Amino acid sequence: MATDATRLVYLDALGIDVFAPREAPMPAPEAVDERREPCTDARSPEPLDWSSLRQAVASCVRCPLHAGRTQTVFGVGSQTADWMIVGEAPGAEEDRRGEPFVGRAGKLLDEMLRAVGLSRNSVFIANILKCRPPSNRDPAVAEAEACRSHLDRQIELVSPKLILAVGRIAAQQLLQSDEPVGRLRGRVHTLNKPEIPVVVTYHPAYLLRTPSQKREAWKDLCLARRVIGVHAA
Ligand code: URA
Repeated sequence: MATDATRLVYLDALGIDVFAPREAPMPAPEAVDERREPCTDARSPEPLDWSSLRQAVASCVRCPLHAGRTQTVFGVGSQTADWMIVGEAPGAEEDRRGEPFVGRAGKLLDEMLRAVGLSRNSVFIANILKCRPPSNRDPAVAEAEACRSHLDRQIELVSPKLILAVGRIAAQQLLQSDEPVGRLRGRVHTLNKPEIPVVVTYHPAYLLRTPSQKREAWKDLCLARRVIGVHAA
């Protein structure tokens, strides 16, 4: 956990004015109707373990994106993390390096995590899609659906206390909603099976383009921290 002084430095680097988060009552979780198939190996009815899941993702040809990838981007971090971060899809740099959020947006995500006392290694970071869409276009619904059971199994295996969905695509896909990200923020959603709280925030790439919204993103992080019971000192 970062000290207050360290946190102030990070927040300053993020361009966020420091304020004391109000202890507002947490909104009631909202049920989300999720229909998900368990991620299993076709040859075995058992749900996949980490190593078989990693292999299944690496060899996945469920959607046409496999043809254009350099490699799949499985996800990184602690397999027993309390926080799971879910983004959209790999970009060019992620496709090249095989790791999510390694570009400029990734650096900002790291700063955001540090601001709440977390590191890249202490959370688990994954994307809705494991393969890069061409020209960084938005994931197609069919691609997200094809990839969904990989993410679902990652969520089951990590069993995080909280999922932070970053950006519109991640939030809408995860919650099967078409509400804009601005309306999905500021409340606590719940995934079913397993039942896990979900907090939505802006995508770091959007925050790089719109730094005035960093203050709002900080509020989302404070909400997330309250949800898993780690209160500001
Ligand atoms: N944006 C995402 O949503 N995911 C990444 O891995 C990189 C950028």
